[in-house]
Amino acid sequence: MSDPVNEQGKQWPRHDPLRTGLRGRCPRCAKGNIFKGFLSIRKDCDSCGLSYDYADPADGPAFFVICFACVPAVIFALVFQVKVDPPLWVHLVTTLPLVLATCILPLRPLKGWLICSQYFFKAREGRVSQPWRPYGADGPLIQPSADPL
Ligand SMILES: [Zn+2]
Repeated sequence: MSDPVNEQGKQWPRHDPLRTGLRGRCPRCAKGNIFKGFLSIRKDCDSCGLSYDYADPADGPAFFVICFACVPAVIFALVFQVKVDPPLWVHLVTTLPLVLATCILPLRPLKGWLICSQYFFKAREGRVSQPWRPYGADGPLIQPSADPL
C-alpha cells in the first residue's frame, strides 16, 4: 500500500487513529500535539502545520464517557448504597472520586481518537465534490451522489 499524499503532494505515513488519538498526537505526523489545554484544540499542528479546522468531535467524547463510564459508575454507587448502606463520608471518599475519574479522565483521549479518526476517514460535513476513497483504502473511487434537494 502506498503512502497517502496530502494536498500539497507531500507524502505522510499512515498512523493508526487509535494510537495517535489516545496520545493526543497529530493524525498526520504523529509528533505534534492536538491539544493546547486539557480539551482545547490547537489551531494547527506545531510540527507539520496541519490545520485542525476540520476537527469537530462535537459531543462524541461525552457520549462515549456517559455510556461506558458514567453509567457504570453511577450504577456502582447505587448498588453500593443499597447493598452496604454506608455513611455519606464513605461515598465522598469512594464513589465521588470514582465518578469524577471515570467521567473526566477519558474525555481527552477519546476526543483525540475522534479527531484523528475524522482525519483518517476524511469525515467532514457532507459535500458533493469529486470522487474519493477512505484514507489508505484500496479499491474503486466512490462517486459523489447527486444532491437530493
Ligand atoms: Zn502534525
